[in-house]
Amino acid sequence: MDYSENEVLEFIEENDVKFIRLAFCDIFGTQRNISIMPNELKKALKEGVCFNASSVKGFMNAEDSDLYLHPDVKTLSILPWRPQHGRVLRFFCDIKYPDGRHFEGDGRHIIKKVIKKGKDMGYSFKVGSECEFYLFQQDENGNPTNIPQDYAGYCDIAPIDKGENIRREICLILDEMGIELENSHHEQGPGQNEISFYYVGPLSAADNIINFKSVVKTSASTSGLFASFMPKPFINENGSGLYFNFIICDNKINLFEEPKMVDKEIVHKFIAGIMNRIKEITLFLNPITNSYSRFGSYNAPKYITWSHKNLSQLIKLTIRNDEYKNIKLRSPDPSCNPYLALALLIGAGLEGIEKNLSLCEPCNTNLSKSHIGELKDIETLPKNMYESINLSKNNEFIKSILSEKTITNYIDSKEQEWRKYDARTDKEKVERELYFSNI
Ligand code: GLU
Ligand code: MG
Repeated sequence: MDYSENEVLEFIEENDVKFIRLAFCDIFGTQRNISIMPNELKKALKEGVCFNASSVKGFMNAEDSDLYLHPDVKTLSILPWRPQHGRVLRFFCDIKYPDGRHFEGDGRHIIKKVIKKGKDMGYSFKVGSECEFYLFQQDENGNPTNIPQDYAGYCDIAPIDKGENIRREICLILDEMGIELENSHHEQGPGQNEISFYYVGPLSAADNIINFKSVVKTSASTSGLFASFMPKPFINENGSGLYFNFIICDNKINLFEEPKMVDKEIVHKFIAGIMNRIKEITLFLNPITNSYSRFGSYNAPKYITWSHKNLSQLIKLTIRNDEYKNIKLRSPDPSCNPYLALALLIGAGLEGIEKNLSLCEPCNTNLSKSHIGELKDIETLPKNMYESINLSKNNEFIKSILSEKTITNYIDSKEQEWRKYDARTDKEKVERELYFSNI
């Protein structure tokens, strides 16, 4: 909802708000925030709030460190898990230079540019996300262990499923924050859960994922548990994916209408566009070394294929009553920065439409059961982060979506991470150190 400055100030007064959290993400999708007191808000809305961007990974350097947070009033939300008296209000922020120019490393700005490009071409997008995560027990000191919360499986019920109460709490919090969900259930792995979101615009979809991760982590910790979004915490169990379901609508879509797909040819070109660029942009969809252990097992995709059926394919194009319903992309995982991931994916799809790319034939083989020999002609996603880094270096398409500085900062950091990982023989241990609690 769009609020005027006065409406925001009234809201603060009426809702006993004492803290205002200004949230933003670094280029890796980690949420950060600064709190201000309500008497500072008027100034913040007018001038923004300065922060030291040289201390944020991938942003600025010491010589040139000031950036400003500008609260986006449309994202106003009370944080329901914080105290009910002296409440905390949260805004996602746009990030600008002192002279008012947008900062190129701001994921919200990056995705807004792609949305605008789509709009200029006559399209708008809706995105529904499905996010998986694991819950672990904590030890007596409150540190996470390797022991999952339960040993339940897909859609199990209590008492085997011990996640029902925490999923309930997460869903109620998200509902209170105005985020519409589709469903929640226990997933296939022990302690693994999934929550899926109803369709919203790409910017809100990315904001919602960032918010969701903090709701899950906070709810887990208040229940004496630890939540991890690491894509493959156990090598012999299901990985955790972050699927994106896209609907391409024409620009005339009414806000309150059920989103509906455009013509089939456009949908095909959009999918062809994503398939054409998927290898190059995988570093941004699957950004950590551990992401690559997930591909190709336990129904996670590996081959660059599509189908109308769910056969471990990269893309599933759902068809019902002869109408296309959505495009499900199954490779991304929850360690990605959703702003950059969605911007690159929608950008790739739009390029497919612009360049009139034709879609290959669907692959109706069950990929999880096929023999390697049968599939040798099908292209695969990168096998590890090293391959992924090399595919995204000096890439003209990525440069058309992200600034040079963002790409360089991102890739430099990924190269350092790879070197750290590659130099060690105890791979599982180093990945746990690097990612288990940070993702
Ligand atoms: N969780 C799996 C993944 O890593 C796939 C199973 C599913 O589709 O839920 O993508
Ligand atoms: Mg799932």
